[in-house]
Amino acid sequence: MTVLLTGGAGFIGSHTALVLLEAGHEVVIYDNLSNASRESIRRVERLTGLSIVFVEGDIRDTKTLADTFATHNIEAVIHFAGLKAVGESVSLPMAYYDNNVGGTVTLCQAMAAADVKTLVFSSSATVYAESRDMPLAESAPTGRPTNPYGTSKLMIEWLLTDLQRAEPDWSIALLRYFNPVGAHFSGQIGEDPAGAPNNLLPYITQVGVGRLPRLSVYGGDYPTRDGTGVRDYIHVMDLARGHLAALDALKARQGVQTWNLGTGHGYSVLEMIEAFERASGRPLPYDIVARRPGDVAECWANVEKAERELGWRASHGLDEIMRDAWRWQSDNPQGYRG
Ligand code: NAD
Ligand code: UDP
Repeated sequence: MTVLLTGGAGFIGSHTALVLLEAGHEVVIYDNLSNASRESIRRVERLTGLSIVFVEGDIRDTKTLADTFATHNIEAVIHFAGLKAVGESVSLPMAYYDNNVGGTVTLCQAMAAADVKTLVFSSSATVYAESRDMPLAESAPTGRPTNPYGTSKLMIEWLLTDLQRAEPDWSIALLRYFNPVGAHFSGQIGEDPAGAPNNLLPYITQVGVGRLPRLSVYGGDYPTRDGTGVRDYIHVMDLARGHLAALDALKARQGVQTWNLGTGHGYSVLEMIEAFERASGRPLPYDIVARRPGDVAECWANVEKAERELGWRASHGLDEIMRDAWRWQSDNPQGYRG
């Protein structure tokens, strides 16, 4: 089938495009390139030997969306497009609500007009309420996110749920990602943050490659096994396969389905540093500093529902994550600009 990937030139979208192409689907990428480059698309084409239709457009642009649906025989949409920097969202809340929430409303209206009613949405574990009970299952309560980025994800989950309630012929998957990391094993595509990375793994690899001097470990006094924060890091190729599984599962179900995409295991920041040192053979300079505001001590997924209903589970472990992340960063020290 032909699948439209909004934000498909970005980190998770480009890996998912590759997995969809390899599974025999046609891919249309719709991206405004605000946080991505066309080079990721070219590389996916080169890796697969297959071509992608690329539309440079904004999800808030009704006309370009309508033209795209009219031109291509799109049957389903995977909606990655959005702004995702937590700190920036605190200073630019309107930009985040406009782009993420407003953009999703416009996209859904364009889908309805084109009679395309299968949608997979990139949500996040950030929607869960803070909890000491790990792992988090999909039935765990959602909370009041501490930043506009997280709030925008929860608002989108709500608006999609209301849409499907009003129009029951929609099939919608809310995929709550835990911590997507790593890269395609070729080292040709990967995560390429603009400016200094906010997330741990690109920060580690950029220190490793000499772009940044040292890592700051945010907090050494959490109630965890070594005092540093624990997260569920999932290889982006496993995550990409999860989208394929969700699309397949939606064929058999109408309604709104929520699935966690994680591994079910948590690793601490210090364990991540050790894994990086094993993969790269380099020491990683770091300092333990104050906690980052808004961070929780621990967060990892209960993945039983995804395993049961999607027939999917993450298969790449921490050492593969680090090996692939390091291959991408060391082969492309400046990302796609290098
Ligand atoms: P990314 O920034 O690499 O990809 C997002 C893409 O959307 C970019 O290519 C960007 O150019 C595009 N985009 C942004 N606004 C747009 C607009 N208005 N119109 C068209 N295109 C637009 O981010 P990613 O890490 O690949 O994340 C993809 C999705 O997954 C996002 O919605 C993000 O919030 C969500 N998510 C990411 C993580 C993570 O840690 N990476 C975790 C949970 C959820
Ligand atoms: N972290 C860190 N230094 C950094 C970035 C992150 O110590 O430069 C820690 C952070 O406190 C958390 C973990 O690494 O415990 C994962 O952070 P990230 O921002 O990647 O993901 P999130 O906090 O959104 O789960």
